Amino acid sequence: MTVDNSYGMTYARHLDDVDNLRGFRQKFLVEDPELIYVDGNSLGRLPRATRELIRGVVEHQWGERLIRSWNEGWFELPERVGAKLSKLIGAQEDEVIMADSTSVNLFKLALAALRFQSGRTKIITDDLNFPSDLYILQSVVELAGAACQLVVVPSQDGIHGDISGLKLAVDDKTALLTLSHTAFKSGYTYDMVAVTELAHRAGALMLWDTSHSVGAMPIDLGQSAVDMAIGCSYKYLNGGPGAPAFLYVRRDLQDQIGNPISGWMGQKNPFDFDLTYQPTTGLRRFLSGTPPILSLAASEIGIDMLLEAGVDNIRAKSIQQSEYFIKMWENNLSHLDFILKSPRDPSRRGSHVTLGHPEGWRINRALIEDKKVIPDFRRPDNIRLGFAPLYNSFADVYEVSESLLEVVEKGLYEKYLEELPEVT
Ligand SMILES: *Cc1c(COP(=O)(O)O)cnc(C)c1O
Repeated sequence: MTVDNSYGMTYARHLDDVDNLRGFRQKFLVEDPELIYVDGNSLGRLPRATRELIRGVVEHQWGERLIRSWNEGWFELPERVGAKLSKLIGAQEDEVIMADSTSVNLFKLALAALRFQSGRTKIITDDLNFPSDLYILQSVVELAGAACQLVVVPSQDGIHGDISGLKLAVDDKTALLTLSHTAFKSGYTYDMVAVTELAHRAGALMLWDTSHSVGAMPIDLGQSAVDMAIGCSYKYLNGGPGAPAFLYVRRDLQDQIGNPISGWMGQKNPFDFDLTYQPTTGLRRFLSGTPPILSLAASEIGIDMLLEAGVDNIRAKSIQQSEYFIKMWENNLSHLDFILKSPRDPSRRGSHVTLGHPEGWRINRALIEDKKVIPDFRRPDNIRLGFAPLYNSFADVYEVSESLLEVVEKGLYEKYLEELPEVT
């Protein structure tokens, strides 16, 4: 067979030579230079600086300073890191705070929105949303009472969001519209301005889960008039496994809504140990218990790196990488039963590209075991290739495509079993 190589390694190397972000790769710990990691959309790589920082936090702040560290920066850490993150998402400094996990933040904000919007009983979402988000929303409407209801608008093709379907669903009974800005499976990215407007026209609040967008593309929550947002810090932000998520509430709404997990960290004067809950002002009321200081401290490193690189530069490279990969798919993979399960339009796509294949699971195994390429896999047949512009090179993109080709052409996947393990 003939392989079109005009987009080959020479071309990839040229793109790497002129890449203005190429210096960032060396800021990450790359233990095995041959490993091609294209799963930064699930768990970002470890920045070298994080190791040093964590050592300092453990040995000095915890080991030596002990409880005194709470007055030497720990107490304000959720706001201070949130203020930095605000610059990545077009928010004001006092509109973002680090807290809990994305799932827990969704719970707090969705229930708060439902209670705030008295008389309105519906939450609208779609079936491209992250399953954990759907589980949380199911629980939220259940807790809110029998009249409350979750409406899940289906995508027409499993890839793109259905804006007209959402338009039909959002009505004068809708308290909240909440969606993943970039869908975890297909990588489809909603038009934040247009959809937020759609919610507001019906009097509904808008809550975006930006987990697959933040750190991969510019987001402007302020310009888009977004009411609430949440997002993950261990994906493109490289904060480390289980690093706390962020939570955004536009300033004028902050003192009007309450945190349903009312804990002492959100109390007016927590160290008065008053027996009655009284929320503090501003976003701190959305804290519940004690923040995980170690991983919260770690998350700052990744945010600093993204601010230094510039989200616009990251987005430009991300688009260039995914377009390059899609070109390779078109030339070399599409006739081998690989189907593109991400949007073609780069403006509607995040930083990962999903390919479907009837042998997707076994191909994924062969990529990892035989080709040292780490993507991830989402049932039933999706191979997700996440390109993280801070550390993925264009040569990586080329190698991924060549590895996919080889795994199928040489039948390398055939020796693997078809059963799936617990974590894919
Ligand atoms: C990764 C991801 C989450 C993760 O939530 P956790 O509470 O950190 O497990 C939530 N929502 C979306 C859209 C995600 O992509």
